[in-house]
Amino acid sequence: MIDNRPITPSFFGAVDQIYLAQLFNDIGDVIPWAEASLKFSLQNHFKWIQIVNAIPNEWKSAIKNSHVSLDICCFQQHLNWNDKMIPTDSFSSRFFYDIYIDKISIKPTSQKYFDRLFGPDLIWDKIYTLPHLATVDACTRIFQFKVSHNTLFLNSRLVHLGFSATPLCSLCKNFNETPIHFFVSALSQLAYGVS
Ligand SMILES: [Zn+2]
Repeated sequence: MIDNRPITPSFFGAVDQIYLAQLFNDIGDVIPWAEASLKFSLQNHFKWIQIVNAIPNEWKSAIKNSHVSLDICCFQQHLNWNDKMIPTDSFSSRFFYDIYIDKISIKPTSQKYFDRLFGPDLIWDKIYTLPHLATVDACTRIFQFKVSHNTLFLNSRLVHLGFSATPLCSLCKNFNETPIHFFVSALSQLAYGVS
């Protein structure tokens, strides 16, 4: 900005868009006045000094310390997203949805709990998409969501809230009724007679 206004191509006396990259040489330094005056047909040395001083120092050091090939840069209007330059004319509603979700999504804390329990090899993408592939029944999907997010409340939790008289398993009455006990240990005991 110069005088609180963005520098426009007309400040250079140019019509076409001028990019920051054009003001720097290959090793990331601002090009000297002699080169700039030829490149942009500039007459006024002071204008060039204004332009160079208007570039924030953080930008200058970022340019100096990065090694980006100009071949992969997008010189059309674009959005920087996850280290990629995405031209605005390729945006789709799917893309807007992705960047929106990307902004608001956080990993469920239950993931850590299950990773501790079963090890780090759980394929969470598959676990979360499974109910959508396996069934169209909303109740079954919600049930799986509760299990996978560790929010299914059985006796061992309900007792703390006063919704159950006992924390013990409704089937065997020997162990706390946790989802793992109830759906894995207790049911397999019922079905196969093993614990
Ligand atoms: Zn039981």
